[in-house]
Amino acid sequence: MIPYKHEPFTDFSKEANKKAFQEGLKLVDSYLGKDYPLVIGGERITTDDKIVSINPANKSEVIGRVSKASRELAEKAMNTAVEAFQTWRKVKPEVRADVLFKAAAIVRRRKHEFSALLVKEAGKPWNEADADTAEAIDFLEYYGRQMLHMKDGQRVESRPGEFNRYDYIPLGVGIVISPWNFAFAIMAGTTVAALVTGNTVLLKPASTTPVVAAKFIEVLEEAGLPKGVVNYVPGSGSEIGDYLVDHPKTRFISFTGSRDVGTRIYERAAKVNEGQIWLKRVIAEMGGKDTIVVDKDADLELAAQSIVASAFGFSGQKCSACSRAVIVEDVYDQVLERAVALTNELTIGNPADKTNFMGPVNDQAAFDKIMSYIEIGKTEGKLMAGGEGDDSTGYFIKPTIFADLAPDARLMQEEIFGPVVAFAKAKDFDDALAIANNTEYGLTGAVITNNREHIEKAREDFHVGNLYFNRGCTGAIVGYQPFGGFNMSGTDSKAGGPDYLTLHMQAKTTSEML
Ligand code: NAP
Repeated sequence: MIPYKHEPFTDFSKEANKKAFQEGLKLVDSYLGKDYPLVIGGERITTDDKIVSINPANKSEVIGRVSKASRELAEKAMNTAVEAFQTWRKVKPEVRADVLFKAAAIVRRRKHEFSALLVKEAGKPWNEADADTAEAIDFLEYYGRQMLHMKDGQRVESRPGEFNRYDYIPLGVGIVISPWNFAFAIMAGTTVAALVTGNTVLLKPASTTPVVAAKFIEVLEEAGLPKGVVNYVPGSGSEIGDYLVDHPKTRFISFTGSRDVGTRIYERAAKVNEGQIWLKRVIAEMGGKDTIVVDKDADLELAAQSIVASAFGFSGQKCSACSRAVIVEDVYDQVLERAVALTNELTIGNPADKTNFMGPVNDQAAFDKIMSYIEIGKTEGKLMAGGEGDDSTGYFIKPTIFADLAPDARLMQEEIFGPVVAFAKAKDFDDALAIANNTEYGLTGAVITNNREHIEKAREDFHVGNLYFNRGCTGAIVGYQPFGGFNMSGTDSKAGGPDYLTLHMQAKTTSEML
């Protein structure tokens, strides 16, 4: 593959970078509240029914009003994508990859504008928004290269008088359904993986973050993507989701989101509907219940810092977030005490102000759900930090630590998706690993230890898709730590990894007698 290097994070200790980011915020402020139409076959379609995207840190601030796809418009988008597939599938992989490289260049030029939009629409602090944009650029650069690497298929043997080839061809129309928590990176990454492999796409972004997706559609158009290859069909998942998933012309679904919606999609996609002549493929990236294990022989300061950063970065709203800290009893009190002290130092408030470490949670539903888990936590464990929320202006919840949870407590088993971490005590390292594995998910995990034997044991037995040693469990980088989990965390796919594009293609063998 052509050499690839990830996009560096912005150093905000430099005054010039801070200023550039503030300019980005001003630019975004200048277009707040605008209307965004659907885009079908390049045509802008405005509907009366709108999704109103608001700033979760300031409920009265409208980010944009986005037209909502009806079933009729979803059908129109499907027909457009089916037609566009007939030409796009024949466009050379080099040309398709170039669209991604050009899009990466455009996003890089508008980097702080995109990050500022994520601050406003997704409630991300500066550094988290900057990482989200960097990851979007990484997906564009990485998948473009990966396509060039795969464009000639794989080598198979030929014999005298016989010429054989093994080529990858696209699948057809893909439905991309993306989440709000990496409103740019995951939305863009899943979309362009489908496009660069020669498929056409109906993109349905999360309803709380549709504006950043609308802006990305503009980027793809500017980068030369032909009309109809990507179609922007925002709408409520529960209203048009089933229709898109069930559609007989849907060839595959690329979904990132919760376990419940993912399993629903998986089940519905398995049914062969009238007029359907294939079995649909589903790529599903779902939830996590991610654990940091702390061994007795470990750097305890590193342990406490890793837990706090992984639990509370972006208010714990990462599928990779640490929501369980399992600590060997010899060092439990020390790590807990230090984690509580670090947590009490965290600042929380509007993320447009760079000094705030943590912003809001996503919306009222997220706020209510997390607060209900805090109530459950009070009955299951000991509240050590946080535990309070305020939804008067935005959806703010204090970083919260519960101690002394039983391994089977609800706080230890269910994905909360907010700034809440549960501490549990283990008898020894083996017990810690058993508790860590005692969940239906298997997304990320980390082990803090100086014991080589324990590292190797965890490498074999800690059953998660992304396992980290002596660091936190968030922050996977495209092309460095391909990302995706086991069990109920999804279909074992690895975004940003060498196998990912093959999920969007099928292999064709041709054998010619000479
Ligand atoms: P979600 O509620 O499942 O929504 C994800 C997407 O699915 C949204 O676009 C949503 O649309 C749509 N949707 C909802 N109901 C649907 C239906 N019946 N049919 C089709 N689509 C439907 O998840 P979320 O709250 O946005 O994201 C958080 C979850 O994503 C967490 O569980 C997190 O762990 C997971 N996640 C996993 C990964 C990973 O790589 N494994 C990465 C990021 C996030 P609406 O917005 O219109 O409802």
